[in-house]
Amino acid sequence: MTEETVRLVAELRGDQCRCGKGKPSGRTFCRTCYGQLPPALRRSLYKLLGEGYIEAYAAAVEYLEDLKRLGV
Ligand SMILES: [Zn+2]
Repeated sequence: MTEETVRLVAELRGDQCRCGKGKPSGRTFCRTCYGQLPPALRRSLYKLLGEGYIEAYAAAVEYLEDLKRLGV
């Protein structure tokens, strides 16, 4: 596993979202972050590690960062 994969698995198992809010263990994001994602990105987060999850995660994070930058 790459370092990035290890970090992602730890984040997935943890109970804190990357934004700092609490989240259920096993979910990628908290309700707030997840709620901001368009349906296609939400669905892609159900992919398994090694089957596109890392790419899906990266796309979702990029989307959330864009929203923040735009002040939405
Ligand atoms: Zn969050």
